[in-house]
Amino acid sequence: MRAGLEALAGDAPDFVLIHDAARPGLSPPLIAALVRTLEEGAGAAAPALPLSDALKRVDANAWVLGEAERVGLMRVQTPQAFRYADIRAAYARLSADASFDDDLAVARAAGVDAQLIPGDARLMKLTHAEDFAVAEQMFGSTRVSCVGSGFDAHRFGEGDHVTLCGVRIAHTKGLIGHSDADAGWHALVDAILGALGDGDIGAHFPPTDPQWKGAASEIFVKHALELVERAGARLVHVDVTLICERPKIAPHRDTMRARTAEVLGLPIERVSVKATTTERLGFLGREEGLAAQALATIERPA
Ligand code: MG
Repeated sequence: MRAGLEALAGDAPDFVLIHDAARPGLSPPLIAALVRTLEEGAGAAAPALPLSDALKRVDANAWVLGEAERVGLMRVQTPQAFRYADIRAAYARLSADASFDDDLAVARAAGVDAQLIPGDARLMKLTHAEDFAVAEQMFGSTRVSCVGSGFDAHRFGEGDHVTLCGVRIAHTKGLIGHSDADAGWHALVDAILGALGDGDIGAHFPPTDPQWKGAASEIFVKHALELVERAGARLVHVDVTLICERPKIAPHRDTMRARTAEVLGLPIERVSVKATTTERLGFLGREEGLAAQALATIERPA
């Protein structure tokens, strides 16, 4: 703190506000109110809230020793506002082993008078993981939903099985592709990339790159998930449709759904895998190939 205050010495401000970055709910009106309090003559100012819970004095094992009076007590938040010269001088005179709860205490120890102004519940300190959910609700929705779509098709060729949505299914043909030709998961990866606005599967895993030859498509799905995380977003729902006459998908649908949910880390009810045919029309109807389409929904910071 002292170093920060000294760093301002070259271009000394009249006032300085010292804030705890773990309290993101700071509003411009509160800053204005603190500055006004200093302008009106207070030596220091800080936002504070009254206590609404009863107070007890306890021992180390939380046995109640007695009641504590809450009248006349306030919970002090930040930012705490000071005249720059006062708080700089207050810190400069501190001994190395001095210990204070907050900057207000340092200033008061140096004889600065302090006035508290009405605080703001939204200035809560984010300390524990569960605090983030509370803060998100308090600040309103700061996320937007984005939906991406994906499509993929692979040609049938020699083989005795296909891999669809991570599940190996015995068949009289195989699917031709550079990787394991899992059209279901390829469409899914493109849908996720689409929701992120981050190119397509070919850009991330060029078919010309030998390292993806025969690769399990789980690698591609995991990579797309990593990009979601890096964007500060989260995947909330996917819907994959497989389009083919054969192999029949219905007997494997539940397994594909469970496998997809597992790889995505999503609850099963947010994962859909379904199948349809083209009524024997076109290349899919002639069983020359198999196609898949997918939708993915992500929530990302607005
Ligand atoms: Mg593909």
